[in-house]
Amino acid sequence: MRMKGKNVIVTGGASGIGLASVKRCLQEGASVVIADLEGSNGQVQAARLGDLYDSRCLFKACDVTDTAQVDRLFADSVAELGSVEAVFNNAGIGGICPSDEVTDEEYLRIIDINLNGVFRVARAALRVMYGQGGGSIVNCASILGIFGQSQAAAYTAAKGGVVNMTRTLAIEAAPKGVRVNAIGPGYIDTPLLEALDDDLLQGLIRLHPIGRLGRPEEVANAFLFLASDEASFVTGTHLMVDGGFTAGKS
Ligand code: NAD
Repeated sequence: MRMKGKNVIVTGGASGIGLASVKRCLQEGASVVIADLEGSNGQVQAARLGDLYDSRCLFKACDVTDTAQVDRLFADSVAELGSVEAVFNNAGIGGICPSDEVTDEEYLRIIDINLNGVFRVARAALRVMYGQGGGSIVNCASILGIFGQSQAAAYTAAKGGVVNMTRTLAIEAAPKGVRVNAIGPGYIDTPLLEALDDDLLQGLIRLHPIGRLGRPEEVANAFLFLASDEASFVTGTHLMVDGGFTAGKS
């Protein structure tokens, strides 16, 4: 019951790492809002998980590229739950394309979801949490926030931006009782990897000294720690959950 009495918003909560994080928070006694796209599986998951864990699990349709939808997500969540103690800023998309071929549209879409979306959600969270006098924001970055990868210019730019934006937000928010951290997953077995062919995937697995892909639950456990009071002196960090990927490179 490490999250008892806490209300948590998870963006991109209908799938993969987000969904695993929703489950872990419910298991630990939180009330959770799954914020994901209209047409995602979020509504079904919220109903199923709320029953399964006998806890409050709501779905709110929210596209993180739309400021009005993000602000409404927080206003509605506060109206229904009373407060928001933790946010997992997790919604994101992948994207592989040679840099000389990528269109403005493709490039800007990745930046708008993976970087600007993280800022929109963090800003809305800060406004609520400053009013409450505290809270924890966790941004989903990546090993690709600190290392490059061929054909992933927009993705790596966005994740690198998330890592450094996290530091800035952490410094700014600390005096007001709000902690801001990032998580850096290695390659995790979620639908995001479905676009990769098997040869590429096997090569990527070999880059993790632990010798396998990560599981969404393993990232969810890191979120749970950073969201909880156990991390009360942790802010501005980029916690790697990467099976040793970065250790092998440094
Ligand atoms: P996923 O595809 O399983 O889940 C992503 C979720 O985000 C989906 O439910 C999707 O509907 C939602 N989403 C997409 N665009 C959105 C938008 N505009 N507004 C709101 N929700 C939106 O992927 P995942 O692997 O669980 O990814 C979660 C996060 O983890 C992403 O930020 C991703 O970049 C990051 N990450 C993943 C890996 C990996 O290997 N899977 C590695 C490092 C970082």
